[in-house]
Amino acid sequence: MLEKGSEVGAHILSGAVLDPSGLNALIPDWKERGAPINTAVKEDNFYMLGEAGQIRLPNMIMPPLMNNHGNYIVSMGNVCRWLAEQAEALGVEIFPGMACSELIYADDGALKGVVAGEFGKNADGTPGDGYEPGMELHGKYVFLSEGVRGSLAKEVIAKYNLSANCDVPKFGIGMKEIWEVKPENHNQGEVTHTMGWPLGLKNSGGSFIYHLENNQVYVGYIVDLNYKNPYLFPYMEFQRLKHHPKIAKMLEGGKRIAYGARAVTKGGLQSIPQSAFPGGVLLGCSAGLVNLPRIKGNHNAMHSGIAAAEAAHTALQNGQSGDMLVAYDTALRQGPVGKDLKKVRNVAPLNARFGPLGGLALGGFDMWFQTLLGFSLFGTLKHGKSDAQSTQEASKHQPIDYPKPDGKLSFDRLTNVSFAMTNHEESQPVHLKLADASIPISVNLAKFAEPAQRYCPAGVYEVVHETDKDPRFVINFQNCVHCKTCDIKDPSENITWVTPQGGDGPNYPNM
Ligand code: SF4
Repeated sequence: MLEKGSEVGAHILSGAVLDPSGLNALIPDWKERGAPINTAVKEDNFYMLGEAGQIRLPNMIMPPLMNNHGNYIVSMGNVCRWLAEQAEALGVEIFPGMACSELIYADDGALKGVVAGEFGKNADGTPGDGYEPGMELHGKYVFLSEGVRGSLAKEVIAKYNLSANCDVPKFGIGMKEIWEVKPENHNQGEVTHTMGWPLGLKNSGGSFIYHLENNQVYVGYIVDLNYKNPYLFPYMEFQRLKHHPKIAKMLEGGKRIAYGARAVTKGGLQSIPQSAFPGGVLLGCSAGLVNLPRIKGNHNAMHSGIAAAEAAHTALQNGQSGDMLVAYDTALRQGPVGKDLKKVRNVAPLNARFGPLGGLALGGFDMWFQTLLGFSLFGTLKHGKSDAQSTQEASKHQPIDYPKPDGKLSFDRLTNVSFAMTNHEESQPVHLKLADASIPISVNLAKFAEPAQRYCPAGVYEVVHETDKDPRFVINFQNCVHCKTCDIKDPSENITWVTPQGGDGPNYPNM
């Protein structure tokens, strides 16, 4: 197992309220084995926020599948660290700090392996002092499990045309802070989700606030990336959220101790590409397995890993290798993952068509209807445009005036990025590749006010205006937290995220 983070868990960012169904299937005695899963959900709230107040939606109107009782508030980074220990005890070899930079194909076109662990390139791509070439590693089957918008998954989806029969993938950008709050403001086991302010009723997204142990609270915001206004600034929407009276009261006197961001898949069932291909499979969010209204995907990632392992095990026992694990793709769609995603498949398209309020009402109706009668009156709705195509020209919109962060509840991006502990060797090639270096200024700035300046949650992209000079596009790649939003949302689809040197990127302690 190859891990691009400096250690297992370093690049994991998730809410997270864990539905333990996947873990129960994988390691039924996880409690006895000391899994870091200690906080059962004891209170589950859903609010519609206005700028100065909120309305609580009664739990009884929520479809049963959205009920969080029986689930646990966890640091998924820590759960992954613990899972790695369990795997190592079974003899699995794990190599952290090894980025897979290239895929290797066999003569018959099947995926054969990866190149990993290339270190020490100069900025221009030539070998620098202390250059170490990558190693070619071959596998009978290669499992790609890179999370949302993986660079290798993107390559195989294109190579094998895996999305020929599915809808476009859809995404959100999730940003998260960990806070230590005053004991009197802490309520271990409380889960809160909100919609409405500050995004309003034109853009969809919402917040999550989870009280875990040690007076810590996860505060996060997900902004759906299908927003039209290129002036929208997801990071500043998140900062504004914390000034809502209800949230500000809980955070007051506390301190933010970590920050991170990661794209989230929200295309659901209709956007899952063919997930088996010659020589390998796509797992978890490489296939896009998040259940949007439940705001959960970790259980499905585990179910997908189990299904892939079982399919590969059977194939190996039959003497096969390097072929297509069709049984995995079938199990994914017909097993627990497909069942989990089926009832919620129209929520994202309804949100996109009718906005957050109409989407909430119609999506809620559709989930109830399917729960009670087993089918949907809508059939399976399509998503429409990709997130990149959803961005409209700046001339159709007004710039948004965001309040300046106060340094207590809200923070500027660069200060917050220092709490992601991200690090990249500065002498290496930039890992954010522009297909055409002129597009950010000639097209994106001219037409879209270059939204990369705002959608990146780490402030990587800047347009620098100097007197008597043309504007310049600058990429501060050292700040990147590997969220992949630029690879998704650039209106010209001009940016490709590739792996930097292994071990680089964020160093999340317990995201
Ligand atoms: S450069 Fe791209 S991948 Fe990196 S943090 Fe910014 S948007 Fe995310």
